[in-house]
Amino acid sequence: VAAARGRRRSLDEFAVIERFFSRPARTRRTDVVLGIGDDAAVTRAPAGKDLVIATDTLVEGTHFTADAPARSVGHRSLAVNLSDLAAMGAEPLWATLALSVPEADADWLGEFSRGFFALARRYRVALIGGDTVAGPAGATVTVHGCVAAGRFVPRSGARPGDAMYVTGHPGDAVAGRLLLDRSRFARRGGAALIRAFLYPEPRLREGRALLGIASAMIDVSDGLHDDARKLLAASGCGADLDAGAVPVSGAMRRLFREESLPLALTGGDDYELLFTVPRKLEPRLQRLAARWCCPITRLGEVTTGKAVRWHLGGRAFRVPNLTFRHF
Ligand code: ADP
Ligand code: MG
Repeated sequence: VAAARGRRRSLDEFAVIERFFSRPARTRRTDVVLGIGDDAAVTRAPAGKDLVIATDTLVEGTHFTADAPARSVGHRSLAVNLSDLAAMGAEPLWATLALSVPEADADWLGEFSRGFFALARRYRVALIGGDTVAGPAGATVTVHGCVAAGRFVPRSGARPGDAMYVTGHPGDAVAGRLLLDRSRFARRGGAALIRAFLYPEPRLREGRALLGIASAMIDVSDGLHDDARKLLAASGCGADLDAGAVPVSGAMRRLFREESLPLALTGGDDYELLFTVPRKLEPRLQRLAARWCCPITRLGEVTTGKAVRWHLGGRAFRVPNLTFRHF
């Protein structure tokens, strides 16, 4: 495939779509009436459900580095969007992809497409359209999902007395990003952390299972503390949270030691689910989550007022104001 520049641009654009995006559309769905290839896609909206729509952009230099594996960029462009659907309790249906690349590099596009479709297939998401342009490297994905009418989980539903929980191991992703920066790949446990950053798993099954149980939910993209504050601000509540309960992974603890907890609280890029549950539903949650592939951890309780307080060993714990965002 020649460079997507100048007069040949439209021909190359067609070739890129054909080779990398319309043929790998193995995730066919019967609710796609018309997919890639016409002026617009046509889908059949599920009866009795609300549509849930999210969009996110990844830009080189801001969200990924120039030397990031293209497969990871493809995976993450879809994963961050699916994570938003997960946080609403929605089931994914369809996606569109607006891709900007400086040139039609077949290796890069092939790997991007592999990363994107491996994830799309796993959750039965159909790519139904998009746009392909020459420009600085970046990808904007829009996902459409659905949820039983009126049943979505908002950020605003937390009430004083609810318990707050998080899935997985927050901090692993930022640890992985730091390991990539510091080129400490080989160190023990480092591979799992790097994988958490490059290939985050959207918690779609968990999000859907929390319908009817979670009172409020958000996905952790900006760091546990920041996203807890967002959820609680939307709910008009505060919280008392135990920093000692934050489920820092063993690999993270071994490699980052006293940095682990501050990183886990402020890191970001986790794509874990942070949610609140009324106390009387906690036994049901525990039974349900026992079957999940990721752990859940109780961080504390929602309170009246606006303050989000962390404590550690009986003392107030101030979340350090770390800025680890290198890119
Ligand atoms: P138009 O000029 O009418 O917008 P395009 O040439 O941009 O048409 O796109 C042709 C078809 O290919 C459309 O169905 C569009 O949705 C789809 N498409 C373009 N780029 C992508 C992409 N990166 N991934 C998936 N579908 C794409
Ligand atoms: Mg177009």
